[in-house]
Amino acid sequence: FSSAELTDHYIKRINALDGKINSFITHTSETARTQAKAADEMRLQGDKRPLLGVPMAHKDIFCTQGVLTTCGSKMLHNFISPYDATIVTNIDKAGMISLGKLNMDEFAMGSDNESSYYGAVHNPWNLDHVPGGSSGGSAAAVAAGFVPVATGSDTGGSIRQPASFCGLTGIKPTYGRVSRFGMIAYASSLDQAGSMGRSAMDCAFLLQPMTGHDPRDATSIKYDMPDYAQDLNDAAASAGDKPFAGLRIGVAKEYFSKGLDTEVEQAARAALKKYEELGATIVEVTITDPEITLATYYMLAPAEASSNLSRFDGVRFGYRCENPKDLIDLYTRSRSEGFGPEVQRRILSGTYALSAGYFDAYYTKAQKVRRIIIKDFENAFANCDVIASPTAPTAAYKLGEDLDPATMYLGDVYTIGVNLAGLPALSQPVGLTSAGLPIGLQLIGKYWCESQLLCTAHLFQ
Ligand code: GLN
Repeated sequence: FSSAELTDHYIKRINALDGKINSFITHTSETARTQAKAADEMRLQGDKRPLLGVPMAHKDIFCTQGVLTTCGSKMLHNFISPYDATIVTNIDKAGMISLGKLNMDEFAMGSDNESSYYGAVHNPWNLDHVPGGSSGGSAAAVAAGFVPVATGSDTGGSIRQPASFCGLTGIKPTYGRVSRFGMIAYASSLDQAGSMGRSAMDCAFLLQPMTGHDPRDATSIKYDMPDYAQDLNDAAASAGDKPFAGLRIGVAKEYFSKGLDTEVEQAARAALKKYEELGATIVEVTITDPEITLATYYMLAPAEASSNLSRFDGVRFGYRCENPKDLIDLYTRSRSEGFGPEVQRRILSGTYALSAGYFDAYYTKAQKVRRIIIKDFENAFANCDVIASPTAPTAAYKLGEDLDPATMYLGDVYTIGVNLAGLPALSQPVGLTSAGLPIGLQLIGKYWCESQLLCTAHLFQ
């Protein structure tokens, strides 16, 4: 295919079917068509970039110069970014073509994509179900065949859980591996961008241009520059009939806890059995009690969010209320009208945890527990190479179930520890429920071991 044909195919499919799915907030079809023609021309001239002319789309959390960037919020309903996020620039430089901006939970807070100002996203596997969140638009767009790959962001599972709900592979890299510059901040010490696709190889391809040190992000780390696709091909070339011989997979009983759906548990255990048949050794490990991890995350993430979101004051950019009486009225009404209920809930609980009288009791305490969580992972990794668990306790639930916040937060129980520790992790599809909804298996790796994780999924798929 030429890039022009491919791009045309995807745009037509989006136009025909996204009315039912609602995965896109903004379309950039015309620019995409022009870029596709130019890419075909460059290819003819001998340009050999592997991703040249390949369509993709961005989660609407990434700033895109000259293109609406909403973060799923009314607060940014009119925000045309004056600059590109580093990953947007780099994906662009690789020659990929963005078809638009994808729907998401407001400010990436949520697990079902129902908190978006732009409406809920429907799961392509069953339109009555949620696609997961917060990168629900990214997952649905890939699953619906609107784009081969999409970017996502993961603060507490927002790449892995929607990948799991939509039958995809999605990877959250080591904290510091991918630049956060131009990615609208939720909880800066946890946020990390990554890729979502139909296979580990697709994820590897998109992750490649996203990877690397960026002087504009103070927490971006200079490290080796892997060639993910090459690593996957090498692993496949040298794999015998026991491709996982020598691989120690850690299984923690804490990750098979109460609240885990039986069909999800069965699929996860069956996948582990298959890994064993293919040569892996299963070892028992212990990690921090997920309920403690959950409490720590829901203390720290809102605290950081309350601070990050203070910049949305109705003055410099974004939503501003009508006819403010004075400055305080401007701040109050712009923020009350511009932020949805979940975001306001996070700002309130975060502000509370950071307030003078409670800081030590809540925020400092949670930071100390975070240290323990990191240590527990370190100890577990002394005995294994990767840790496996279900990605989420359930498959995709029904849209409009209107879960109370505490129940929704429980759905993050297996994913958030990874963010608190800054570890890389992916979710890969390992089966379907009896209702035909996808089930994901999470693989957690040691720091900087993205290639190993991707290989562990690639040789399995
Ligand atoms: N569901 C989690 C939350 O709402 C994770 C979100 C994310 O990773 N962005 O905080």
